[in-house]
Amino acid sequence: MLGPVILAASRSDRMRRLVSAAPVTKQVVDRFIPGETVDEIVPIIEDLTAKGLELTMDVVGEDITTPEQAEAARDAYLELIDRLKGLELGTRAEMSVKLSMFGQALPGGHELALANVRPVVEAAAEIGTTVTLDAEDHTTLDSMFAIHEELRKDFPQTGCVIQAYLFRTEADARRLAVNGSRVRIVKGAYKEPAEVAYQDKAEIDKAYVRITRILMEGSGYPMIGSHDPRLITIAQELARRAGRKLDEYEFQMLYGIRTEEHLRLAAEGHRMRVYTAYGTDWYGYFMRRLAEKPANLRFFARSMISK
Ligand code: FAD
Repeated sequence: MLGPVILAASRSDRMRRLVSAAPVTKQVVDRFIPGETVDEIVPIIEDLTAKGLELTMDVVGEDITTPEQAEAARDAYLELIDRLKGLELGTRAEMSVKLSMFGQALPGGHELALANVRPVVEAAAEIGTTVTLDAEDHTTLDSMFAIHEELRKDFPQTGCVIQAYLFRTEADARRLAVNGSRVRIVKGAYKEPAEVAYQDKAEIDKAYVRITRILMEGSGYPMIGSHDPRLITIAQELARRAGRKLDEYEFQMLYGIRTEEHLRLAAEGHRMRVYTAYGTDWYGYFMRRLAEKPANLRFFARSMISK
């Protein structure tokens, strides 16, 4: 029951101020968000790629309120891409972006987000890598998919995310499992109403398996975003049955979660991509990680009390 409460708090400005100001927050946050600046994150990128892992980089931030903030978000990605130029990692370090951070919720937001994300996709292509559009709450998805389709006209490798908890997602998966399109399937991290989403964990897992099968049997490139050992085993089996080789799909997990599993899958020859968030506006990202696992919250609460 804690998850929905934490997700509600993730949208509260009062909670944002309280949590962000707590002196011990930083050390707990570091587990999931290992840097605030490009200078801090570049050595982490070098370290993880040297271990055989691939990365998708997220400059944290969302729900911005002015067009200037959207431009700043765009520029933060451009700065990171510029720094990656010299490392020549190609698709081993790609970008994940949240369109809300590029202005999607502002007046004229659809066009604004497209205008801000396009230079990031172009710059990524110039250094031989790609961008994936994260999935946010269900009200934003039609716009996200339209932007994805638009970007794919010039940059067919642009990826997007679909969420197993939404009723709509099987149909989205069928539409997207074509022409080499890159699709990340995740369970879903937002608080969604019963009218649009499964609420029961077992139902979400079953939907995840059905959607993974659609992606594996299609002609796109499936990206399995999960830490769930059962779903990872099932995805491996579905890939095998669909006749996919190890480099014809990939696993993705979040930085700081089941790290030993990242290394195990990479050592088995799988493409293993670590979603690595960095930046100063970490509140929303951090609260979703707490909501996914109540033990994280207990750890966080204990460290606050023990100080
Ligand atoms: P769960 O059943 O939640 O977890 C399985 C096991 O993994 C748990 O038992 C636990 O051991 C471990 N675990 C999972 N989460 C945590 C945690 N926070 N802390 C500690 N241990 C944990 N959601 C979106 O809505 N949109 C996106 O664009 C999006 N992108 C994502 C990208 C990647 C690469 C990943 C891995 C997830 C993404 N998510 C996104 C989040 C996703 O929707 C889930 O909320 C999250 O992955 C937890 O679900 P799970 O599949 O890992 O299964």
